[in-house]
Amino acid sequence: MDVWLGTLVLACRPAPVASGEVELQATSADGRVELAVELDDATSVLFALDADAWIAVDALEGPDGTVLRWQDWVGEEQLTSAVLASPAQSVLGWPVRAVDPELRSGGWTLTASVTDADLVPLDGVEVRAVVRTKTDDDLRRGTVRVLLLVPEALDPALRDGALAATARWEQVWGRHGLTLELDTRTAALDVVVPDLFFGDPALRDAAALRDGHDLVAWVGEELASFPNALGNAGAVPNAAFDGPRAVLGLAALKAAGQDGAFDDEEVRLFGEAMAHEAAHFLGLFHPVELDFAHTDALGDTATCSGREACEDALGGNLLFPYPICGSGDCVPAEGLTRDQRGVAHRYVGVR
Ligand SMILES: [Zn+2]
Repeated sequence: MDVWLGTLVLACRPAPVASGEVELQATSADGRVELAVELDDATSVLFALDADAWIAVDALEGPDGTVLRWQDWVGEEQLTSAVLASPAQSVLGWPVRAVDPELRSGGWTLTASVTDADLVPLDGVEVRAVVRTKTDDDLRRGTVRVLLLVPEALDPALRDGALAATARWEQVWGRHGLTLELDTRTAALDVVVPDLFFGDPALRDAAALRDGHDLVAWVGEELASFPNALGNAGAVPNAAFDGPRAVLGLAALKAAGQDGAFDDEEVRLFGEAMAHEAAHFLGLFHPVELDFAHTDALGDTATCSGREACEDALGGNLLFPYPICGSGDCVPAEGLTRDQRGVAHRYVGVR
């Protein structure tokens, strides 16, 4: 009966065609929403769902069948944070890897759970989805348009240190065919970046300042949700368009160290933190997490067990979870494997 009804609805009201960008709306029933879209001649797609509820992607189905099931990606290998219930926003890019089924032209359906914070299913919740596609046959080169938002009240020395650090971000990404097109804008924003997981109206306002940029970064003194971090991407991947928390947070005062003033090494480390966090934004996980058990789902990032072995095998990787520092300096973290580069270049915000 469900199947018959679904077919009938689609037959009466054809799914919108996403070439470029479309917006969809759906209302949750039995704690779920189903979003149908027709994809034509695209190589990548990004779905960004937002609602006044907790959302998790359950499945993605294409013309040839189901390509993503949440059950497959809640173990030790991580492919996307979209399958984890999170407040206000869920973002899924597809395909993530070269081995994932490609985006065949035809009908695609995304299914998601809509719940409260205790994961109790909610009905009657309006879910808005933005679907953007891109066609890109060269996964070796691309440009990302980044807007750096600087709060009016941020100390000018911290602002200057952050701007100097962007040169290192640009250098690291440039090694991997990612060209940074960076604009800076001063805005009436708090110097503490609001909670990037639970969201905040100010994050939505900041994301809305994007003006054609694909990645919006808010450079504050520190992050409300991660007081010791130099940055946070909010989700893996995050959204390349307006949304309740489609913002990258950067913490300039933390990056400037104990004395609150940048030296050259701190500028370099902050630049690598920017390149690292922005890589999360494009969809990359750490090759190995701090528990040395959870890993990314890529075939060519080294496998290792334990701190010492993982530092040896992966310490120079841009996505290693922490900088490896001796008495005076830290190991440059700038490498990406071929599979990691592929994930970044499939992201629709890389043009
Ligand atoms: Zn990280």
